[in-house]
Amino acid sequence: MPGDLKDGRIVIVGASLAGLRAAEALREEGFTGSLTVVGDEPHAPYDRPPLSKQVLLGQATADTLELPMRRDPEAEWRLGVRATGVDLLAKQVLLADGESLPYDRLLIATGTRARPWPNPEEGALDGVFTLRTREDGQGLAERMAARPERVLVIGAGFTGSEIASACRELGLEVTVAERGPAPLVGALGGTLSKLAAVMQQRAAGLRTGRACAGASRPCCPRLACCPLRAG
Ligand SMILES: Cc1cc2nc3c(=O)[nH]c(=O)nc-3n(C[C@H](O)[C@H](O)[C@H](O)COP(=O)(O)OP(=O)(O)OC[C@H]3O[C@@H](n4cnc5c(N)ncnc54)[C@H](O)[C@@H]3O)c2cc1C
Repeated sequence: MPGDLKDGRIVIVGASLAGLRAAEALREEGFTGSLTVVGDEPHAPYDRPPLSKQVLLGQATADTLELPMRRDPEAEWRLGVRATGVDLLAKQVLLADGESLPYDRLLIATGTRARPWPNPEEGALDGVFTLRTREDGQGLAERMAARPERVLVIGAGFTGSEIASACRELGLEVTVAERGPAPLVGALGGTLSKLAAVMQQRAAGLRTGRACAGASRPCCPRLACCPLRAG
């Protein structure tokens, strides 16, 4: 492949914000070669921030969040298939469906994922959610619309705090468990996070310095209670 990046084969793994914008930028910069974008989600790139805000409040549905394209990147979209590895010598991306995609340049834009609950059996209980994808957002929104007695949010970072805030806007009781000394401490630092703690303590039942010791399931596949322990 010529070093000027004008042609050849580029494969982008990750069909979300970064993958889409990279594909657009390559075309804007005059790349005329073949462009393939691989994504393990079955959807075209979509906007995640509304998942913890408008979707939970019932102001948008998760299937309306497709990201606008600045220009058509004229890419081949391989959606709903996971990239499982790279053969560096053969310069090929290996896909879960057994296919492999040859490349001259490879961009890995696989983003982040929600940290899974440590015990998979507990994490699979009815009523336990993580919030990362369209499906997560729609599922959680539907459950919140059914007005549960109380919502327990584990983690008071941005996403957890936004979920707690949506619960309060919907008039739902909510407890937030955070093992750090204050909400948003990683993002805001000590001083501002103390202010956030005062605000969250007033609005939601905030328990800082508390980690969840496990999700209990006394007699049915539903989450019933979740003991908190110090630290
Ligand atoms: C609920 C929520 C609320 C948010 N709110 C805000 C906000 O208010 N403000 C803000 O600035 N940011 C917010 N963010 C963060 C923002 O959405 C991310 O910064 C942004 O999505 C990052 O884009 P990305 O393309 O780098 O990664 P991601 O959006 O994580 O996309 C990576 C993609 O790669 C796919 N992938 C991973 N591994 C593979 C593989 N092996 N093969 C194929 N595909 C793979 C993933 O499934 C995913 O589709 C929020 C995120 C969430 C989840």
